[in-house]
Amino acid sequence: MNSRPDNSWIGAVFIGLLVWGSGCITPRAPGADTRQGPPESAWKSSSPGEDTVMIVGINDFHGSLLSKERKLPNGQGVWSGGASALAGMIKILKEESEGRLLIVDAGDEWQGTIESNQVKGASVVEFFNRIGVSAAAVGNHEFDFGVPNMSARFLQAKYPYVSGNIFEKKSGERVKWKNMIPSKVFEVGGYKIGIAGFSTVQTPSTTRYEYVKHLDFKDPASVLGPEVEALRSKGAQAVLVTAHAGTICEEKHGLREWRLLDRSSPQGACDPEHEIPLFLKGMPQGSVDGVIAGHTHQVIHHFLNGVPVVQGEAYNQYFNILYLVFDRATRRLIPEKTRIEGLIPICEQVFEGADHCDVRRLDGKKSPEMVQAMFHGKPVSPDLSVERWLLPIREGTEKFRREVLATSELPLTHFRDREGSFGNLLADVLRQKGNADFSLVNSGGIRTSLDSGEITYDGLFRALPFDNLLNVVELKGSDVKLLYRIATSGAHGVIGVSGLELTLIPFDQEAPKEDLNGNGRLESWETRRLIRIRKADGEEIEDQRTYRIATFDFLVNGGDDLGWFFSKVPSRAIRRDKTGYCRDLVTEYLKREKKINTREHPLLDPDHPRIKFAPRSE
Ligand SMILES: [Zn+2]
Repeated sequence: MNSRPDNSWIGAVFIGLLVWGSGCITPRAPGADTRQGPPESAWKSSSPGEDTVMIVGINDFHGSLLSKERKLPNGQGVWSGGASALAGMIKILKEESEGRLLIVDAGDEWQGTIESNQVKGASVVEFFNRIGVSAAAVGNHEFDFGVPNMSARFLQAKYPYVSGNIFEKKSGERVKWKNMIPSKVFEVGGYKIGIAGFSTVQTPSTTRYEYVKHLDFKDPASVLGPEVEALRSKGAQAVLVTAHAGTICEEKHGLREWRLLDRSSPQGACDPEHEIPLFLKGMPQGSVDGVIAGHTHQVIHHFLNGVPVVQGEAYNQYFNILYLVFDRATRRLIPEKTRIEGLIPICEQVFEGADHCDVRRLDGKKSPEMVQAMFHGKPVSPDLSVERWLLPIREGTEKFRREVLATSELPLTHFRDREGSFGNLLADVLRQKGNADFSLVNSGGIRTSLDSGEITYDGLFRALPFDNLLNVVELKGSDVKLLYRIATSGAHGVIGVSGLELTLIPFDQEAPKEDLNGNGRLESWETRRLIRIRKADGEEIEDQRTYRIATFDFLVNGGDDLGWFFSKVPSRAIRRDKTGYCRDLVTEYLKREKKINTREHPLLDPDHPRIKFAPRSE
């Protein structure tokens, strides 16, 4: 397995001598490649009178128990992530820290794979129990299988779920679910760490609305203050927040590289208007010592106003560590010594000359050799007890996963910010199945692109994990225009359409907003980016004519901020198809077509784009 040259001990001794002699520089053996290797652990870096506590931050696991395969240009498969690799890495950390660590999850645990969805998340909770997760936030997708199922998962967990901003609309009281609490104090290595949590205020528009319509997801800064104070009064020497909410940070300063960062490290800016920056702004200075964030699937290892915030993308491909340093005599946290280690790739093998196994980060033409992955000076190996536990789950889903449905000559692409062939495929299937004039699918309904070649059921499931049903809505032309105007605001990525040609104001340009729902606020979904909407054949849409639109029940039920629009549509105008999930409709279509997205008939036709961008002046 280990194909590294066997003279690595020479380098190790050499580096050891240099470190001994010179302190803090990171020297390299002569002749070695000059890349910045993975950082050493920050565990032993504190002064003699100090103690360190390690916080392992994971987020947006989305059922990713099995490792993910991506192909190199030479066709070789590369595996990344997976439960047993993560467990193997956590084992290394537990040994290193002698158990002085907490594993904190930021939510969206169980929506997204066959291994998880077929047991409604139970397998993921069992895995989290096995690795010893300490606390987890409640993600929007935790609600996807309904509150009774979620409550069953809460009871199954050996760790508490923490969320302090979920209230009952009727009583105005905080929800009372067993093993779901606003906050808790944990004892680690003689220190008390308080953890409070919250859920994104976007939850009602990002899960099945009917499951959460009785709940109020309050602005976290307005309700978490007393919780954080209570944690301090219970003796917490540090207070962390695990939040299923995030922000978006600039792709700068080697954002995806594996580094050890402190407050002075150069970092790209993060969007101040997202939930975490707004939350920190709304909390008293110094009240929060660190945030494990989620939901936005981004890379965050930033000090926002001095507060360390971490997020490790999504799907169990990466994680982060926070090192909290305490003064042993005073028992106080030394915030300026807090460090972040991230982005840590979850790999058993890495590309030679790199410290990750992420095909997306390679130069598209390269097919490098794989070598043993190292983590904190130890080789990464899968946790065998997890591997054994996973085996029947893996075998049980094997026949589904392997089934080849069709081949796609070109990749099935999905982007948040522009038209992709996957969205077009899905939109075409819905329109055809619903016998509709047009269709509309949301960007968030597709979770990943798929490579060209064979499309397996597993690949399709990973891309379309949601149990969306087909709805067909009859609308007048004027309402069709309003619907697509809201759906193209940019608040939730670029939609997929069929039967239409849309022209939008680019996302990096200002666009006008109107207070459509008259609530006195200009919200992002009220942005008007749609400049032109026409039928695919170039004909205009007539305001008074009735058209049929095929879409997901998720959107008709108010998802992605379409609640205001669909609340005005009479229920008789909506036909709800309950014959099968949209994923099954696509499966059926692929099996019938066998060959799709060919060079001759590409789903994304550069000569006839379905979604165009044009400056506002045009
Ligand atoms: Zn989420």
